[in-house]
Amino acid sequence: DASLHYRVRLARLGTRYVLILAEDRTESFRLDEVRRDFVANISHELKTPIASVGLLAEALDQAADEPAQVRRFANRLTTESARLGRLTQEIIELSRLQAKDALATPERLNVDEVVAAAVDQSRVVAEAENITIAVGKKSGAFVYGDEKLLIVAVHNLVSNAVNYSQPGSRVGIGVRRQKNVVEITVTDQGIGIAESDIDRVFERFFRVDQARSRHTGGTGLGLSIVKHVVQNHGGDIRVWSQPGRGSTFTIRLPEAAKPEVNQGGASVPH
Ligand code: ADP
Repeated sequence: DASLHYRVRLARLGTRYVLILAEDRTESFRLDEVRRDFVANISHELKTPIASVGLLAEALDQAADEPAQVRRFANRLTTESARLGRLTQEIIELSRLQAKDALATPERLNVDEVVAAAVDQSRVVAEAENITIAVGKKSGAFVYGDEKLLIVAVHNLVSNAVNYSQPGSRVGIGVRRQKNVVEITVTDQGIGIAESDIDRVFERFFRVDQARSRHTGGTGLGLSIVKHVVQNHGGDIRVWSQPGRGSTFTIRLPEAAKPEVNQGGASVPH
């Protein structure tokens, strides 16, 4: 195969010399591997909650005479099946996103409204944890994109900020226009991310603390969905974080041009 390359190296092993042939992997080979890894990861991630559901159903059957036990197992069954549902939903979302490089029919969207909708979805959980979500002043910024996907992306950041914060703390959200770029920042005062993990948080299924993430219902897919959405919109995402102090995630998107104002003062979109 002409597209395969080998590197040759001579190495000493004790008293002998050996010839090492190292294969340079081609791009298509690498993509294949990424796909295989993804399927392997999905299978692994699904096996645990499915096994739990099976075991819990058995336990439930055996505990039939003890109402307290029944309630406990039933609650855990609800939790596990909710997790399975979320996992399935996120896997579907992610594979849809990966299948298309660009957006089919982008719309002109008010970023302040996207942010407000994303924050609304986190209010109940935040209030239960006594966490304040503070949204900065309106930016008046517009972008072209898919409203549902952008709401999912911002919501995932806000929900992480809430999940990885202590009760009573504050989550801040801001939208800024910078030249032709719209910046959405989500800042928390939570547990933060160690430097050694920070480059990995956007990987599928990566979780710093599996136990904690499982407890909060995390799947490890949230940030990879955010990254794909943002990239499909021609933007990028960055993170700043310090363990014990908190994290700031910044989404940057190309700003949509201002609509022209006609004689009558009404605006017409481009
Ligand atoms: P999860 O569903 O586990 O939250 P994500 O892909 O959204 O998955 O995030 C991956 C991991 O990155 C999380 O499990 C968590 O360890 C870490 N993480 C994400 N956001 C934050 C944050 N705001 N503060 C601290 N850690 C975070």
